[in-house]
Amino acid sequence: MGKVYLVGGGPGDPELLTLKAYKLLQTADVILYDALVNADILNLSKPDCLKIYVGKREGRHALPQEEINHLLYKFASVYDKIVRLKGGDPFVFGRGGEELAFLTERGVEVEVVPGISSALAAPASAFIPITHREVASSFVVITGHSNRQINWADFARVDTIVVLMGVRNRQKIAQELIGAGRDPSEPVAFIERATTPEQREVFTTLRELSQNPPDVNTPAVMVIGNVVKLGKLPLSQLLNLSAKPEIAYI
Ligand code: SAH
Repeated sequence: MGKVYLVGGGPGDPELLTLKAYKLLQTADVILYDALVNADILNLSKPDCLKIYVGKREGRHALPQEEINHLLYKFASVYDKIVRLKGGDPFVFGRGGEELAFLTERGVEVEVVPGISSALAAPASAFIPITHREVASSFVVITGHSNRQINWADFARVDTIVVLMGVRNRQKIAQELIGAGRDPSEPVAFIERATTPEQREVFTTLRELSQNPPDVNTPAVMVIGNVVKLGKLPLSQLLNLSAKPEIAYI
């Protein structure tokens, strides 16, 4: 029996792969990958590596999860090194836990290689610190996918709210959060295609989003909270470096 590696491919920029993921991708016999995996990352593979797209984007599944599980099991009985490559981190809305359970129940050895989740990388790459002294001391990461029943009031008291898969429901999310007591003037950012050359940010407020939502392309991470204001400020202002502002940019 071969070994299956559940590997986080990071948010997009190949330089944000872990060293462990980088080495595994170069030596894997098979790579099963998702839609949000960057092509440059796949090109690290050896020439005879079998690369299989099993992608999932909201609503469109190339393969149902059960088939992916079975495919991983079958490959483990034929090949030595099987990489299951997912965008971001494999256990952040990646269904990695289901694959882990399926394989270990059948005696297949599994190793998990964490990745940098877009939940953290997207705000960071837009200069939004998800925690900041005196502004935010907590954050939560929630799915905005319509299939899940989310009680938004449960999260409304967390300082910074990060929503993945929230683009389609963005107007409803804003309405729910205002209904749960969030200040309508609170800033909101969408970071599209974070850490790639196509990265784009859309800034708005909960009120505007609840009434007249701006266009946002997927994939995007939604960030709600007062830390979003810091993302627009020059770093020198943020750090109060009045004397030598250029230091802040080194
Ligand atoms: N496991 C992934 C998340 C999978 S859910 C992770 O840890 O990042 C898919 C959602 O992730 C998308 O709908 C989007 O909200 C977010 N996402 C993933 N990559 C992204 C990127 N490069 N830029 C913006 N959002 C991204």
